[in-house]
Amino acid sequence: MHPRPALVYDPAMAAYDLGPAHPLKPERFTLAVELMRAYGLVAEEDPRAPLELVRPARPASDDELALVHDRAYLETVRAASADPARFAWRTERGIGPGDTPAAPGLHDAAALIAGGTVEALARVLDAAPGSRSTRAFAPAGGLHHAHRDRAAGFCVYNDPAVAIAVALRDRPGTRIAYRDIDAHHGDGVPEAVYDSPDVLTISVHESGRFLFPGTGAASETGAGAGAGFSVNVPLSPPAGAGEYAEAFDRAVAPALASFRPHALVAQCGADAHVDDPLTHLGLTLPAMRDLYRRVIGLAEEHAGGRLLCTGGGGYGTYSVVPRAWTLLAAELAEITLDERLPESWRALSSALSGTAAPLTLSGE
Ligand SMILES: [Zn+2]
Repeated sequence: MHPRPALVYDPAMAAYDLGPAHPLKPERFTLAVELMRAYGLVAEEDPRAPLELVRPARPASDDELALVHDRAYLETVRAASADPARFAWRTERGIGPGDTPAAPGLHDAAALIAGGTVEALARVLDAAPGSRSTRAFAPAGGLHHAHRDRAAGFCVYNDPAVAIAVALRDRPGTRIAYRDIDAHHGDGVPEAVYDSPDVLTISVHESGRFLFPGTGAASETGAGAGAGFSVNVPLSPPAGAGEYAEAFDRAVAPALASFRPHALVAQCGADAHVDDPLTHLGLTLPAMRDLYRRVIGLAEEHAGGRLLCTGGGGYGTYSVVPRAWTLLAAELAEITLDERLPESWRALSSALSGTAAPLTLSGE
């Protein structure tokens, strides 16, 4: 069995809560962690549990966030956390009415999530193969739409971009590959490294002609020294497992093979599922599990096994995302779970959603 992958998580990350009517709900990852617990994949202080539960030591610092974001933007986020009412009717740097509303404690929660992703990537890069796991999963992370100077698409701090920037700062000469399987183009990450030859970004997503944020055309390939280090594969809906597999074989695997990264960061947003209310792609849970296996295989083949998976979007909050990310955690730990969902988790999920929870882990 593979050494225990880290599940980097702190319950305080659930304070990244944009309000009861907002589609991006913290339950997407809190219920995922509860399902992993119910299956026995993680347990506090249990060295036999398949995944090691790691609480990040600290939030990302201002200096770390400022590798990707303007310092003036950090001050705007702090203001939106301390006085959300000021942003109730007016948008400042992307925070306000619309996609990314102000909320109490937003800075602290977003910085904690970013700190978790930073720590998870450092663990992956520092792990000696065979001893500590070269795999980690940060389910609250993956907020890939945040830009240098503004929030966008529910995202305040771009934790994958910050983690990659910290890794490059602390380990000169490191090459990182970023693979985004969220249904949306993960615009903020390639934007942050668009002129860098040290980071290869690869995104397969629903075409910007149909879906936010509108970018991610195949012609977006990087600039300057980074020319050729941004790969985009837009899919026209209703794309399903076949199109994803074809994109993988045609574009993703060859790009990684020639880049030879030191680690692979995979944003594993779960909104490409056929039941997702915001997108129009056609993946089933078994197809998503197949995608996770392919991502793990890529890391093993081309990145020395070093793999950080983050969460991301996912709007089938109760029925889809917790099951998808539990399947991912099981794949990382190389464990096969019982298809029948634990009754304790079904009761919790039903109580929170007000609808009957699914019966099985990967069925409809
Ligand atoms: Zn998304």
